Amino acid sequence: MSCVIAGGGPAGAMLALLLARSGVEVTLLEKHADFLRDFRGDTIHPSTLQVLDELGLADEVLKLPHRKLYEPRLVTDTGEVRLTSLRTLPGPYNYIAFIPQWDFLSIVTSAAARYPGFRLLMRSEAYDLIREGGAVRGLRYRDESGEHEIRADLTVAADGRQSVLRERAGLVPQEFGAPMDVVWFRLPWREGDPEDTFLRVARGHMMVAINRVSYWQLAYMIPKGGFDRLVAAGADALRKPVAALLPFLGDRIGQLGGYDDVSVLTVVINRLRRWHRPGFLCIGDAAHAMSPVFGVGINLAIQDAVATANLLAGSLRSGAPIPESTLRLLQQRRMRPTKVTQAAQRVVQNLLIERALKRQFDPARLPRNLSRIPPLARLTARFFGYGVRPEHVATKRHDRAAGLGVKTWTTGVGGGDSVEYPRIL
Ligand SMILES: Cc1cc2nc3c(=O)[nH]c(=O)nc-3n(C[C@H](O)[C@H](O)[C@H](O)COP(=O)(O)OP(=O)(O)OC[C@H]3O[C@@H](n4cnc5c(N)ncnc54)[C@H](O)[C@@H]3O)c2cc1C
Repeated sequence: MSCVIAGGGPAGAMLALLLARSGVEVTLLEKHADFLRDFRGDTIHPSTLQVLDELGLADEVLKLPHRKLYEPRLVTDTGEVRLTSLRTLPGPYNYIAFIPQWDFLSIVTSAAARYPGFRLLMRSEAYDLIREGGAVRGLRYRDESGEHEIRADLTVAADGRQSVLRERAGLVPQEFGAPMDVVWFRLPWREGDPEDTFLRVARGHMMVAINRVSYWQLAYMIPKGGFDRLVAAGADALRKPVAALLPFLGDRIGQLGGYDDVSVLTVVINRLRRWHRPGFLCIGDAAHAMSPVFGVGINLAIQDAVATANLLAGSLRSGAPIPESTLRLLQQRRMRPTKVTQAAQRVVQNLLIERALKRQFDPARLPRNLSRIPPLARLTARFFGYGVRPEHVATKRHDRAAGLGVKTWTTGVGGGDSVEYPRIL
């Protein structure tokens, strides 16, 4: 039995690794030539660090230059508001690690390449599904040499929020709207600048400043659909509020040349009502696009991948058919975390971001230390760090180099290759 996955983002790459490690033949297609993406999700939360640990990859990932965030905070005109303290979580992963997504993906796909069943096709764009006998039996893709087919027992759409395969399967996400878009850009980090990542909020303005070791990755929020108005108003319409919000950037704001230097994220929250068809499954952003609030898009994508491998690796390896009811189980398992996280994101978007951007609320009036309000403190730390229903690696490693299908060692809480899920935190 085999699996083909469209999309080498966090969801697709992690699923490919987990399946290949379990002895499944898996092909991963990525339409770009490399994993380099500027201004993508770089937040690796404790839930993902835990998964990496279970796979023996945490040390390798944490050797990359990165910053750790223990206490997410919001900076207002009159002081700081501590949102939560991840230090209250059990160690060692009681922080958010900021790691470039391309480095993360390189490590995950390199780890997958150690298994003989793994095949990575770069510059390969999936454009259609192969359907036979009422089920999906693989996909069609194009690369420099032309158009090709890959047949597989399971086809996974991990091709992101604009998923082509989702559309080819006739699945349409339900949209929930968002009051803002985000303008991303970068400026140099200099000695004497703040060390931590933080959220800056003032009447009418909001931005996130992410310390990326040698530079600041900056996200300036604008009202939904407002980018054309911003561009029409000229580069100073962005430079001035940024310099006012973050005065330490005043000495280098001129380095922001204009709107060619920025990237716009159209914020959406959506999710599919149905994530599957016979022989076909959507995971990650293809199943549910997340708001940047809490920075959990990557982590949900990874959790989907872990749950999918836990549920399906055994059948895929043994050749047992995968009925659509099994794919439905996966959706049922991952729907609750998706719904709860999106609901929380919508509350923050509507009560904080939209009202701050519309000047309807003065952030300076927020209590100084939200993490001092028990049991809110424990709850928010847990929610930030692990989300709802964190997944653990329950698939076994099968080392075919040492003999077909021979298990060499196991990791993970559950240690089993069955639909029995491991105990969750
Ligand atoms: C600007 C920006 C900032 C973000 N910031 C954060 C953050 O700070 N923290 C966070 O957790 N999340 C953040 N996110 C969201 C996060 O990046 C996504 O939720 C997460 O990457 C989803 O993973 P995925 O694997 O499902 O999809 P994606 O990461 O979108 O990966 C999909 C992959 O599929 C490839 N692909 C697409 N179509 C095809 C095709 N037809 N054939 C083959 N390959 C294809 C794409 O090139 C891509 O590599 C941000 C997103 C954006 C756009």
